[in-house]
Amino acid sequence: MGQLRDEYGTASNIKSRTTRKNVLDAIEKTMQRLKLFKRPPPNGLAVFCGAIPQNGPGTERMETYVLEPPEPIRVYLYRCDNRFHVEPLLEILREKDTFGILLIDGNDAMIATLRGGQARIMKEMTSGIPGKHRAGGQSARRFERLREAEVNQYYKRVGGHVNEIFTQISDLKGLIIGGPGPSKYDFENGEYLNYELKKKIVATVDTAYIGDNGIDEVLEKAPEILRGVRYSEEKRLVQQFLYEVGHDTGLAAYGESEARKALKAGLVSVLLLSEKLDMVHVIIRCRVCGFTEDRLMLPHEMARLEQDAASVQCKKCSNATLEVEKRELLEELAEIGENKGVGVEIISGETEEGQQLLKGFGGVAAILRYARSGLG
Ligand SMILES: [Zn+2]
Repeated sequence: MGQLRDEYGTASNIKSRTTRKNVLDAIEKTMQRLKLFKRPPPNGLAVFCGAIPQNGPGTERMETYVLEPPEPIRVYLYRCDNRFHVEPLLEILREKDTFGILLIDGNDAMIATLRGGQARIMKEMTSGIPGKHRAGGQSARRFERLREAEVNQYYKRVGGHVNEIFTQISDLKGLIIGGPGPSKYDFENGEYLNYELKKKIVATVDTAYIGDNGIDEVLEKAPEILRGVRYSEEKRLVQQFLYEVGHDTGLAAYGESEARKALKAGLVSVLLLSEKLDMVHVIIRCRVCGFTEDRLMLPHEMARLEQDAASVQCKKCSNATLEVEKRELLEELAEIGENKGVGVEIISGETEEGQQLLKGFGGVAAILRYARSGLG
């Protein structure tokens, strides 16, 4: 509140009359909303407030959004800008998955977790194996044999810790193995990891180092690795849907209206929505006679309708008293799905399967729990 009071003072000096008024209004609105909180909510608070153009310049309306994030928000940020800074909230959305990292070479190993771009070191180990030079008088063969046994012991020890640490993370999404030399491959291909963890290996990467620098190298490569993991997951989901369609199993529904029916009937197991789905669900309602009409529109059709709404006559009573309510279809269907406890998957347009979902099925598809009967 103290900072907002200061900002209010500063904002009084803004030269443009409109901007000044908008900023002052926004600060006032924000302070009003903050007063409703006796103390900060446990996960913190995000307030967005500003004059949003409804339909081109001159149609701005003050809008305020107060959000309690689902996980703690870790930054304090005040911005007065021409856009809302939602990045810290997007970070939280990205933070769902935990990955394991193992860095290993002949001398050292490090185990860490990766969640939301943050790495946490869990364990560091050294092999304790002396250098490559054999002691005088020792035969080369005997030296090699001893060395192999020692390396094997070391891998076993590392494997024990990896298995113990990562099997405790029930929702571990994947395992990334890295390191400078061939050790990582020897370890990966040997019998050191338990079966479940072996299946979760999503990438084996070269790093120049073990330790903090090695972790930094993995973090640098992580976005690409994670994108790859996500894409293969998306491909698998769309392919499963295509299988149900192709084999006529009755376990698929697609298109907005079919998917909505299946959702209502509680039949949906997984709902697939293309992130490129840009349809708007529009409800036109007459203030006088109550006539309503439902339509799906593209954004530019929607804009035209909003412009004309005031002059268009009601189909039933002929009064020009129509009001328009709109909702992004993507958001609406995702919300219905989430309320029904359905797995909602937003599918990118970056894969061939993602394009197929968008172009072949209108961007909306569902894999069903049970075959439909009499849904029509
Ligand atoms: Zn009417």
